[in-house]
Amino acid sequence: MIPAPFDYVRAASVEDAIRLLSEAGEDAKILAGGHSLLPMMKLRLAAPAVLVDVAQIPDLHGVAEDEGEITIGAATTHAAVAASEVVRRGAPLLAHAAGLVGDPQIRHRGTIGGSLAHADPAADLPVAVLALGGAVTTVGRQGARRIPIDDFFAGYFETALRPGEVLTAVHVPCRPHAAWGYQKFARRANDWAIVGVAANAGRIALAHMASTPVRASAAEQALAEGAGIDAAAASADAGTDPGDDLHADAEYRRVLARVLTKRALLGAR
Ligand SMILES: Cc1cc2nc3c(=O)[nH]c(=O)nc-3n(C[C@H](O)[C@H](O)[C@H](O)COP(=O)(O)OP(=O)(O)OC[C@H]3O[C@@H](n4cnc5c(N)ncnc54)[C@H](O)[C@@H]3O)c2cc1C
Repeated sequence: MIPAPFDYVRAASVEDAIRLLSEAGEDAKILAGGHSLLPMMKLRLAAPAVLVDVAQIPDLHGVAEDEGEITIGAATTHAAVAASEVVRRGAPLLAHAAGLVGDPQIRHRGTIGGSLAHADPAADLPVAVLALGGAVTTVGRQGARRIPIDDFFAGYFETALRPGEVLTAVHVPCRPHAAWGYQKFARRANDWAIVGVAANAGRIALAHMASTPVRASAAEQALAEGAGIDAAAASADAGTDPGDDLHADAEYRRVLARVLTKRALLGAR
């Protein structure tokens, strides 16, 4: 439970972080809230030689709304996202999901950028941003990129982030009147989802049903073609690839995906 030795540097700006990452090379890792990275280091599943802390960079904090889009700085904590009036009004699904992450300590340290970059398929915020049809901005030595969330998750704990790139912002559409629903099935209040379902304006995203957060495409299509909620939810697990673990086997997850999708759609408000 003790990590391997590492150096720690605190970046003052995004440019500073990119320089520090570039100097440290491939053994460096970005540190934000540390609530996923540090447990992995303690278990020796990760052993970076250098941690570049981006959590205090002013430009990575805060929420802004402009021309129908909400932009959230990557180092904004889950608690700040959950409490933001702008997010609560324009993307209530995201505020609600952020309020369900872990417990208060985790929500006051963990960040939205860290959650998306970590890309845990069982996590709350990746699936919420996927259902919202959002995007992320990344900045590296080659400049800035805007990546649609549909193209961001690349595999199990893998994303489209390139080495040395910093995720700087998360963007979601501002749609105060979109119907949304969120269902998280977990054993204890501060656990990750055994299965989670986020639904927003006809998009449906599933947590823990594959190696990445995934869209329930067949259910989305059924809704778009006029199917009722029962019929659409019945196909929620189509095309998914859930795994077995201590909490649930794949077949149970498939049942959960169908039941929770139905509840998310019925409860959409
Ligand atoms: C007990 C416990 C319970 C939890 N329960 C839940 C839960 O119910 N739901 C849930 O969704 N999550 C849960 N989490 C995870 C929590 O939400 C983490 O805070 C989050 O996954 C990672 O955010 P972080 O800021 O802590 O990132 P860190 O741990 O600092 O970093 C995670 C990864 O992202 C990279 N990274 C961080 N920031 C950036 C950036 N700006 N640009 C590029 N790469 C970056 C890091 O290099 C690292 O690889 C839980 C964690 C714990 C310890």
